[in-house]
Amino acid sequence: MTSIKKPLVDKHLRKNKQGLTQRDYEGVASTLCAGCGHDSITAAFVRAFHELDLEPHRAAKISGIGCSSKTTAYFLGQSSGINTVHGRMPSVATGAAAVNPDLHYIGVSGDGDSLSIGLGQFAHAIRRNLNMLYVIENNGVYGLTKGQFSASADIGTRAKYGEVNEQTPIDPVRLALTLGASFVARSFSGDKEQLVPLIKAGLMHRGFAVIDVVSPCVTFNDHAGSTKSYAHTYKYYHPVIHADFVPEETEITADYAEGEAITIPMHNGGDVVLRKTDKSHDPRDRDAAFDLLKNLEGSEIPTGLIYIDESRPDMGEMNHIPDTPLNAIDHSKLCPGSAKLKELMDGYA
Ligand code: SF4
Repeated sequence: MTSIKKPLVDKHLRKNKQGLTQRDYEGVASTLCAGCGHDSITAAFVRAFHELDLEPHRAAKISGIGCSSKTTAYFLGQSSGINTVHGRMPSVATGAAAVNPDLHYIGVSGDGDSLSIGLGQFAHAIRRNLNMLYVIENNGVYGLTKGQFSASADIGTRAKYGEVNEQTPIDPVRLALTLGASFVARSFSGDKEQLVPLIKAGLMHRGFAVIDVVSPCVTFNDHAGSTKSYAHTYKYYHPVIHADFVPEETEITADYAEGEAITIPMHNGGDVVLRKTDKSHDPRDRDAAFDLLKNLEGSEIPTGLIYIDESRPDMGEMNHIPDTPLNAIDHSKLCPGSAKLKELMDGYA
């Protein structure tokens, strides 16, 4: 019997509109533990950017400290990036976005970086509606310092060596909703089909888009008794709203039953089509988002795009920041001249 050998097709080598393959969106090789959920999120970033046809240099990656914060080196090797101080990524992102609003800002953080030392910074970036995608790679432990519980650890969850957590967790999704975030989602590193469109929609959203991604730490928090393990997450995983991102020039042809799908135009181009698994939930309704989280409390992990508000002005709009990057504004516009300065100073006399 003869067999026909199929030609080798490497989907990673398919060129997008920029003439780039997925490989062009990769960074340096990961040094994380084999099987770490964070590497799957890195792969989702690579795919999302490639599918959005974005030029790598049009992105800026900013992170704090921790295993998650190391990952910005593993994707978009041709874009700018800053590994900042622990918990201080949002203020650096705020400064960068004020000076150059013409980039896609991606913040990568962890539950330790965002919910403990960086909690204040996280909260105020939400209040300002800073135009950035903020991904929390959430594993419930401090992996870099050998697995102590983080602030997102659930009550009753067990550490690798048996200790039980008794402190109340901080849920980043609930917190972001409370503080008025304009795009709130949760996903799982093990579900790229859900995560990639969420990343795309978060990048095209104008304002603060937070995605809390359950991302198991295989070395310190992937055992029986942990509520952030692969086994636990697969068991209690509950997709509520599936988001499909549809680029501007592509017709929405997917087969969505009437009443089960919502199309929301994104400020920065394209549409997000939300397929409702839970028919009672409308992600444009903030109260409904709270109810959803409350009703599923303790049993399931609701995932998908939980809340979205495309009407809120972002930090740039609120503060009348010009779209042109500061270094591209003509000197004559930046410098008011000595007469104007004198007039200004005289106002303080
Ligand atoms: Fe990932 Fe945990 Fe290893 Fe850190 S310690 S790289 S979080 S598996």
